[in-house]
Amino acid sequence: MGQPVSDISVIDELHLMKNYYQTNVTKNYAFRKEQLNQLKSSILNHEEELYECLYADLKKNKEESWVTEIGFVVAEINAGLKNLYKWMKPKKTSTNLINLPSKSFVLPEPLGVVLIIGPWNYPLQLLFTPLVGAIAAGNCVVLKPSEFAPATSSVMKKIIAEVFSKEYILYVEGEGADVIPRMMNNFIFDHVFYTGSTATGKIIYKMAAENLVPVTLELGGKSPCIVESDANISVAAKRIAMTKFSNAGQMCVAPDYLLVHSKIKERFIETLTSTIEKFFTKDVLNNNEYAKIINEKQFGRLLKYLGQGKIIYGGKYNKEKLFIEPTVIENVSMNDDIMHEEIFGPILPVISFNSDEEAKKVIEQNPNPLALYVYTSSKQKEKYWLTNIAFGGGCINNSSWHLTNHYLPFGGRGFSGSGKYHGKYSFETFSHFKAIMKTPTWFDPALRYPPLKGKLKIFKQIIR
Ligand code: NAD
Repeated sequence: MGQPVSDISVIDELHLMKNYYQTNVTKNYAFRKEQLNQLKSSILNHEEELYECLYADLKKNKEESWVTEIGFVVAEINAGLKNLYKWMKPKKTSTNLINLPSKSFVLPEPLGVVLIIGPWNYPLQLLFTPLVGAIAAGNCVVLKPSEFAPATSSVMKKIIAEVFSKEYILYVEGEGADVIPRMMNNFIFDHVFYTGSTATGKIIYKMAAENLVPVTLELGGKSPCIVESDANISVAAKRIAMTKFSNAGQMCVAPDYLLVHSKIKERFIETLTSTIEKFFTKDVLNNNEYAKIINEKQFGRLLKYLGQGKIIYGGKYNKEKLFIEPTVIENVSMNDDIMHEEIFGPILPVISFNSDEEAKKVIEQNPNPLALYVYTSSKQKEKYWLTNIAFGGGCINNSSWHLTNHYLPFGGRGFSGSGKYHGKYSFETFSHFKAIMKTPTWFDPALRYPPLKGKLKIFKQIIR
């Protein structure tokens, strides 16, 4: 389709989108399917460019870029293509006694014009995965990428402009603090889907509340990772090292800190540090499989954590290359920033515990983590952690990979967010489910109509 050059303001463009949505074109099954196919082809046509730009922004290698960005979105599109017909179909439900012989069904319908706001750490995945759900559900979409991954953003802009008209999918770049309030304060979106920090999430939530716009908030937090005394140490060390230091720890579901049972702490740390070295080599700075910190602001924020507690592995950094070595720290104080702020970098505090109660107290300092991980071979321990902490989602004997299974709903709770997405949950997030009852006219008992006096007994029999 291509996007014509125009100098109209973004607000005018949003109104054009609303008009376009009202033509009902986007509600059609064949249309939605076609757009998902177009999006997939456009992404794949720009695959090499995306690799280059993800490398430029974050020093992500090709393999990681496929697993966590390009392939991730392609898999989401394929799941959408496979299931769209089923998701879109009206769903019959049962009807209760008082309403018989009516029939009831639920009709999924699109929300309208929705805004999707993305962060910089997985710039493609976190903007385009919700986009897939929004397209599948039949919406018009405004995409606002993070300004901090500019190379990837320029390719995403091209991907969108090459296949979609601006009335359908509008790509809006710019500083979030400027362009987002401008849009949200001058146009009533039908939904806002935001991924980013908890602090900005509160700003978005307030702006949306002004017009009662529903929101999905995918936020951050401090995700604990518990290693119990009966854990398989070498497997735990591999799975933790892999996800904590992938993308240099700039991952919302990375284990933020470790709680390791004191019985195995020494053995575990030894295994963990040797695993880190095996995975990322001694010369991490020159290792192409290890990402960089996104920018100087984040680099500066992370450096302050290196002075909190005792570094037992790593700790080297290079400002020019925005590099921080995988680092393990112990003896952190619960009052230090490192134990109150989301780390979002390659620094891993290790805290030992003797009882579950003791570990639980540490976790409760930062309520509602986005994820929780527990390494154990005991069903009882597993149950304890799954039922005693309120968190978004998580893994047993694994870290972060729950996010890659699109059959699972992904999202936080409370401080780590509200709402869920991925696979059919994205479709649901971007749909309204109209509840409809269809009542025949041939049966019209007087029971339901006034006067009601004397009908209490029969009501009590029917409604209970
Ligand atoms: P951020 O809050 O700085 O930015 C996110 C988006 O909000 C960007 O598009 C930005 O332009 C916009 N923005 C920034 N300030 C704004 C303002 N004042 N008003 C309106 N919009 C504004 O977040 P980030 O630094 O890009 O991302 C890192 C955070 O995101 C971490 O906390 C991380 O845990 C979280 N995150 C969560 C998930 C998840 O799925 N739950 C995924 C990735 C990242």
